[in-house]
Amino acid sequence: MLVLKFGGTSVANAQAIRQLISILQKKENPRMLVVVSAMSKVTDLLISLYQKAATHDATYLEALAQLEAKHMAAIEELVPMSQQIEIKGRIKIIFRELEDVCRGIYLLDELSDSTKARVMAYGERMSSAIISVALQHHGLPNTLVDSRDFIETDASYLNAKVNLKATYARMQERLPQVPLIVAPGFVSRSAEGKTTVLGRGGSDYTASLYAAALHADVLEIWSDVDGMYTTDPRKASAAYSIEELSYEEAMELAYFGAKVLYPPTIAPLVTAGIPLVLKNTFNPDHRGTLISATPTPSPLAVKGISCIDHMAVLTVSGSGMIGVPGVAMRLFKAVASENINIYFITQSSSEQSITIGLAEAEGEKAVQAISAEFAADLALELLNQVSLETPMSIVALVGNGMIQKPGVAGKAFSLLGEHGINIRAIAQGATERIISVVLNSADAERAVNLLHQKFFLSVPESSEAALA
Ligand code: ADP
Ligand code: ASP
Ligand code: MG
Repeated sequence: MLVLKFGGTSVANAQAIRQLISILQKKENPRMLVVVSAMSKVTDLLISLYQKAATHDATYLEALAQLEAKHMAAIEELVPMSQQIEIKGRIKIIFRELEDVCRGIYLLDELSDSTKARVMAYGERMSSAIISVALQHHGLPNTLVDSRDFIETDASYLNAKVNLKATYARMQERLPQVPLIVAPGFVSRSAEGKTTVLGRGGSDYTASLYAAALHADVLEIWSDVDGMYTTDPRKASAAYSIEELSYEEAMELAYFGAKVLYPPTIAPLVTAGIPLVLKNTFNPDHRGTLISATPTPSPLAVKGISCIDHMAVLTVSGSGMIGVPGVAMRLFKAVASENINIYFITQSSSEQSITIGLAEAEGEKAVQAISAEFAADLALELLNQVSLETPMSIVALVGNGMIQKPGVAGKAFSLLGEHGINIRAIAQGATERIISVVLNSADAERAVNLLHQKFFLSVPESSEAALA
């Protein structure tokens, strides 16, 4: 069994879908399952659709018409004229349903997370229906399934948590035994039967769930770049594709901002021991990046550099923290009660302050939660007012090689210092596989390029080839 996932740009229009078709036509696997994202930008458009409807902006109707035209154009280019009626009819029905949901939002002023998830799910529902029919007409008979019938989640609609046991059991018992299945990514259903979605970028995760349940030999994720790069190619033009990564390295790089892979994707593959290959739909002959439990050892200490922007640094400080047990616990509890994700934590050795990194959008909410928790201590001036610094970025150096090689952190810090880049906080993971530094966003791109130059471009390529 081979599971493949094609992302938004890989299904952006008829031309891209033809590429996808030619990739599948060359495969010789007796069983394949293909997961597809919504056509590029469609999820963003769907979000703007419900936002417009909720604010009584009637131009949502124009956005809807634009969306419909985009899907119809793909059908017209991919399906022979005489066969278009059926699929066009199905897409039209889906659009009328979407129009009804939007009208409901417009009229009722009601926009719950459940409704948002329902609207967002239309993108993958439409792209999978169209691609299934397009494959049919290009000599690739297949069965279209609805991933909502297989992936069961909790009721956190926009970032739903998957019930793995129920999901795997359904996939194993109920998926049709056919050579080719097409399935929408991203979409799922709560135990109560409502549509949920797996978080932005979540189609990668859908694919890894299918791969793990079906014991796939390999999972291929097809995107618009030649795999996982040494750093974000949009930030550093010198970035290049990494040949191999361990699961842990890939997970850290993804977690700290390498958008090419949605972070939760790796976990199901680790448990099932399934290798993951990241490939480029528009350059299919490139080897891409192989992610597995046992990558070929690399002479490089640092394998990749990630960067997440739009972060905030929050600091709780004060003399009242010294020697008082439970301050950290209360702080984390206050943040956790608001469902806020913490990216890193540092504590000064004198115990006078604790600094955490979190998403900028959640900064104010975290300050309020912490201020409420420590209201009494603040009133007694045992603690200073909680400080929040934005916009910050986290730059993370990742590599299994750092575990044995001392000095990477020192080199990184002195390099940034020499160039006048102020490091606001530093964290090193317990595994020593990752070092992250927090800095002002205005310095982030320069820091990434400097570090990239230092750790990658000064290494002669031959030393990598020697180990291959
Ligand atoms: P898809 O729609 O196929 O899921 P995404 O847009 O989610 O694709 O991810 C691919 C994009 O991730 C690339 O176009 C690239 O700009 C961005 N990216 C960020 N960091 C990295 C990295 N380290 N390696 C490769 N791509 C990255
Ligand atoms: N279409 C969804 C998004 O844009 C999921 C995905 O593409 O992975 O977030
Ligand atoms: Mg993606």
